Amino acid sequence: MLDQHATRKLIEIKRSGSALPPDAWRGVVKAFMSGGMDEAQMAALCMAVVWRGMEFEEIVALTQAMVESGSTIDFGSAKTVIDKHSSGGVSDLVSLVGVPLAAACGVAVAKLSGRALGHTGGTIDKLESIAGFRVNLSIEEFRRQVESVGCAIAAQTADIVPADKRLYALRDRTGTVPSKGLICASIVSKKVAGGADAFVFDVKVGAGAFMHRAEDAVDLASTLVRVSQQFGKRASAAVTNMDEPLGTCIGTGLEVAEAVRFLRGEHQDERAKRVCMTICSEMLRNANMNDAEAALTRVLESGAAYEKFVEMVRAQGGSRADLEAMAAPRVSQNAIAKHGGHVRAVDVVALGNLARLLAAGDSMSGIRVHKRIGDPVEAGEVVAEVYGGDDSAVAEITRAFEIDKQSVQAEPLVYEVIGAARPR
Ligand code: URA
Repeated sequence: MLDQHATRKLIEIKRSGSALPPDAWRGVVKAFMSGGMDEAQMAALCMAVVWRGMEFEEIVALTQAMVESGSTIDFGSAKTVIDKHSSGGVSDLVSLVGVPLAAACGVAVAKLSGRALGHTGGTIDKLESIAGFRVNLSIEEFRRQVESVGCAIAAQTADIVPADKRLYALRDRTGTVPSKGLICASIVSKKVAGGADAFVFDVKVGAGAFMHRAEDAVDLASTLVRVSQQFGKRASAAVTNMDEPLGTCIGTGLEVAEAVRFLRGEHQDERAKRVCMTICSEMLRNANMNDAEAALTRVLESGAAYEKFVEMVRAQGGSRADLEAMAAPRVSQNAIAKHGGHVRAVDVVALGNLARLLAAGDSMSGIRVHKRIGDPVEAGEVVAEVYGGDDSAVAEITRAFEIDKQSVQAEPLVYEVIGAARPR
């Protein structure tokens, strides 16, 4: 076991910009989890990593050490089991829509999800807005449901990568979240321990994402894929835009209601649809299915994807009636453009934070956006509406839409897809 002197030496090595050997990363995680390395030392090491980076072998070693800090699920399934992961966004419907959509095509989807983080929404919080829905499944229940229903979305249990729980909380407090190596080890360790055979990563980029620059997001995406391969997993990744909310609704229950309408074919936001189809196509390709787009379109149009969602909700304690009763409140207040022009930018962080606050009081409260970046707007036109908000919420939403006389070109929605990579 590393003592304080040895860990101090490792911090100094990383501070000077050198790589730590793989065994050192194992020692660090063990010492951190057993109290041999205190939080001050771990925070110092993380800050050194933020500044100095990690070599690929170091990221793999840290990921391995983190996996070993807890239990690993074993599906023992004949089918390829897929998990998908989003690096975090606002109005990110992809898991709610994509999990049943891929499962309806015959893919086994075992998704372990997190809660909201900062301004970004969490799939687990969204699912909890469905009356009776159980997010806390035992590993056995999770495994059985994937087998019988074809999909499950559950909260991570305490014994899946406990090192990440402690380390992530420490990174959050010490400003050391934005490091490619630390993010990659955090994400891939949880996916590996979750037991799926293949992963699809949706790496968000833009004003509302952890990664603000496309080249950093592409670098993170390809590292996620390469590290996953080192664990014998298939993996692919898409880098997608988060300069503005992905779907039209922001808020836990509102997003579930939007997902229901999407799966029933009643309203399919074009942007959300493109990202869902991109991610689901990769899920199908990782499960060796051809003609992914055609298969996805078929199950959407036939209603099979929606029925798979209902089946999953029922298996986890909810009911069709309660799910279908979820609708935006009748009363809303409009945020109005003060002058005409084109939407130049949307403060997606402000919208995400506000919707989190509103939905914490009532799960069907939140925001519906009417205008997108690049859209023309006339003075007096509605840019968004708020459910359950007061005048100050309306003012905040109005401020979040930056309107310019000049027309602007929105950034790409899907920057890059690092496709269906096989393990080496
Ligand atoms: N999401 C994670 O799970 N971990 C990180 O470090 C960042 C985003």
